[in-house]
Amino acid sequence: MTEDSLVSIDIDLEADGKQFGNMKVPMSTNSAGWSQYFIPIISIRNGDGPTVLLSGGNHGDEYEGQVTLMNLARNLDPTEIQGRIILIPMLNKPAAMAGTRLSPIDGKNMNRAFPGDKDDDITGKIAHFVAHHIIPLADIVVDIHSGGSSMHFLPSVNMHDLEDQEQMSRMIEAAKAWGLPYVFIYEDVAGSGLLPSYAEGLGKITLGTELGSKSQFGPEMLKMAADGIHNLLVWAGIISAAPIDTGISDSEVVAGDDTRDYIMAPCSGILEPLREMGDVVGVGEVIAVIHNPELIDGAPYEVRTETEGLIMSRRSNPLTAQGECIATLVRPR
Ligand SMILES: [Zn+2]
Repeated sequence: MTEDSLVSIDIDLEADGKQFGNMKVPMSTNSAGWSQYFIPIISIRNGDGPTVLLSGGNHGDEYEGQVTLMNLARNLDPTEIQGRIILIPMLNKPAAMAGTRLSPIDGKNMNRAFPGDKDDDITGKIAHFVAHHIIPLADIVVDIHSGGSSMHFLPSVNMHDLEDQEQMSRMIEAAKAWGLPYVFIYEDVAGSGLLPSYAEGLGKITLGTELGSKSQFGPEMLKMAADGIHNLLVWAGIISAAPIDTGISDSEVVAGDDTRDYIMAPCSGILEPLREMGDVVGVGEVIAVIHNPELIDGAPYEVRTETEGLIMSRRSNPLTAQGECIATLVRPR
């Protein structure tokens, strides 16, 4: 399980109490031949019990998890818990500080870098340390995402469809405890190397989220993140308190299990959405048109569905390149 890493950590994850520290990633730059890049990590522990890993900022431009986990790290007292909570608010901190999805240092997507390599670029080095030294400690792994700069999402807790039915049913139970409108079972249509895939593969109770988008960032989405984490910690037995009533007592479990549910732009241009999230559409419906700014006397290109379902997400950035995802459809499970 343990592999050598060039990354070090300056807190003791086995100690009781609350510790703020850093993962220190070796780096050599033009301004410092010898340097380390610091990524905050917090451990809150009180005796024996389950371990939950909470990460945010896997994609730098998704700030819901980052803010929620910074608040939680500051406010939670170790005496309020039984077990251990490890928080990494800004997993891809270089991207978070740049306001970008991908790392500005090496151009990498943290959520395609797992399990990484100890001699990789900075993103892969961080992924490798987290994969081999942090995730194995956890019983429950939560990676908080949102639509960031490019997508709007209906609020959901999400996961892949796993073969292990016992693990899957525990994950759905945990996801429902969060208290969001949807539990979204998704397919990978844009590559492998996801943090959740790695944790799922180790048999961990693994949850992701999609909470709104950069332009929906605000009190409503932050409350969904904070209340949901509280409810999950109650479900796990780490906090003995009543769950917070989110108004959702039974999340709807939906799946996008056909690659055609992930509708990619057939051409570049300016996207005009015609249908909104939450709408239910049939096969062959025009859900958006794409205007060609160089041929405005011609009709815009009609984007038609190839499957039916509820619109779970839609592109938030009108300027669209061929092949970029413009909407996702899901059906009840
Ligand atoms: Zn994300």
